[in-house]
Amino acid sequence: MSKSLADVPVRPFTKPAGIVNATVDNKSGLLPGTYTPPEHMVTDLFAEGTVPTETDNLHQYMDICATTGDLPNDFCTDRITKVVVKLPYTVPSNVADFAIRAPQTTCTLHNAYGIDPEQAEKYQLSPPPDVDNPSTPTTNPDNGNGWLPPGTTGLNDASDDRNTIRRSANNRNRQ
Ligand SMILES: [Zn+2]
Repeated sequence: MSKSLADVPVRPFTKPAGIVNATVDNKSGLLPGTYTPPEHMVTDLFAEGTVPTETDNLHQYMDICATTGDLPNDFCTDRITKVVVKLPYTVPSNVADFAIRAPQTTCTLHNAYGIDPEQAEKYQLSPPPDVDNPSTPTTNPDNGNGWLPPGTTGLNDASDDRNTIRRSANNRNRQ
């Protein structure tokens, strides 16, 4: 390309009349809002009069259950607040921006007793590693409480184990 154009003189591009530059939010197509992150802003050319006048309302600052990534219920004590994109429909997890979408469902893991073991399986929370004996698997597929160490039910005070689970899940959701 550069070879074939070597003899063609360089001319500066003059923007035609009636064309303007504007920066918009690339998720909503509206003007950037309070929570539009820089990576969701795009500057483009617009025909004069077609630049959006409304401000983005899809980016929202939201409370989320840190363990499950769902909307928090009254028993979710560990919460994170982050900017998410709230759209009125769900997308499968293989959609590129799935991780930044606002959750559509409320956490069912946390309840008045702490953690519901059945829900822990649904959320695919892995059991805490057996630090004293790493070669021994701590899960038992026939036991609904397999994600907990033997001898615990999930309803007793197993707060150390819960914290380990919570921490590993938090790291997953805090990206
Ligand atoms: Zn929760």
